[in-house]
Amino acid sequence: MDLDQKCIFCKIIEKKIPARIVHEDEHSLAFEDLNPQAPIHMLIVPKKHIADIHGITVADREIIGHLFFVAKTIAAQKGLDKSGYRMVINNGRDAGQTVFHIHLHLLSGRPFAWPPG
Ligand code: AMP
Ligand code: ZN
Repeated sequence: MDLDQKCIFCKIIEKKIPARIVHEDEHSLAFEDLNPQAPIHMLIVPKKHIADIHGITVADREIIGHLFFVAKTIAAQKGLDKSGYRMVINNGRDAGQTVFHIHLHLLSGRPFAWPPG
């Protein structure tokens, strides 16, 4: 795929565009959201391009599980496990997904309402 046609998160993973990276390993990258919806708002993404939840294959199960492990490790490192945090996946149009490279939102630093808007 031509670089210009690649999704924005693939470009961040390839360091073609900048991001405030908070964690990187072989299979995942975590970085601060450009338009934060809470005092702490990070995104955890697989390095493999998977568009959405329905793009997950049997072979991806370990990678997807790893995203949760990374999220909880970051949350614990930042002490967010004390106060709480919210993890969100927006999947598809009605959920407001805007970037079609699967990602976990990790939000913290304020109370969150339920049900979500
Ligand atoms: P979603 O709407 O669930 O697909 O979430 C996409 C998120 O990506 C939004 O919260 C955006 O603010 C965020 N975002 C888009 N472009 C960038 C970028 N270049 N760097 C960091 N976050 C971004
Ligand atoms: Zn991508």
